[in-house]
Amino acid sequence: MTIAKNRVATIHYVLKNDAGEVLEDSHDGDPMEYLHGLEELVTGLEKALEGRKAGDTFSVTVPPAEGFGDYDEDLVESVPLDEFDSEEPVTAGMEFSFEDDEGEIHNVVVKAIEGDEALVDENHPLAGQTLHYAVEVLSVREATAEEIEHGHVHDAHGHHHDHD
Ligand code: ZN
Repeated sequence: MTIAKNRVATIHYVLKNDAGEVLEDSHDGDPMEYLHGLEELVTGLEKALEGRKAGDTFSVTVPPAEGFGDYDEDLVESVPLDEFDSEEPVTAGMEFSFEDDEGEIHNVVVKAIEGDEALVDENHPLAGQTLHYAVEVLSVREATAEEIEHGHVHDAHGHHHDHD
């Protein structure tokens, strides 16, 4: 069976950046199981997985446009420190989620503190990076009707996890 829309694939992968540093390695834990065709994975990786079958191994280089997007300077902005809901002093490297006036959730990381403002960055940590994946396909199966309806994978024990 090949990987296609509404099938569940289980894969192991190693993700490296241009410098050859390992950013993620699924071998550190359980392999990743995902429902294909719903853009659960970055576009470039899903495209490369389409049509593969159990036992296939391959490498794919994914440019930022098909990965986590280009780095957008407009997503870096200054926020007054007194707007942070934090018990501790705000310092560089801290991550925050906040909801805007339209109810949209924004995840940001603090890049620097400048006076009484924090410079925050809403870009994905891997934005602007070329991604190098080495992938091994372990198994492919049809998704259940319930998984397709929910738009995500349920585990082998029929365990029903929390939903968003
Ligand atoms: Zn579900």
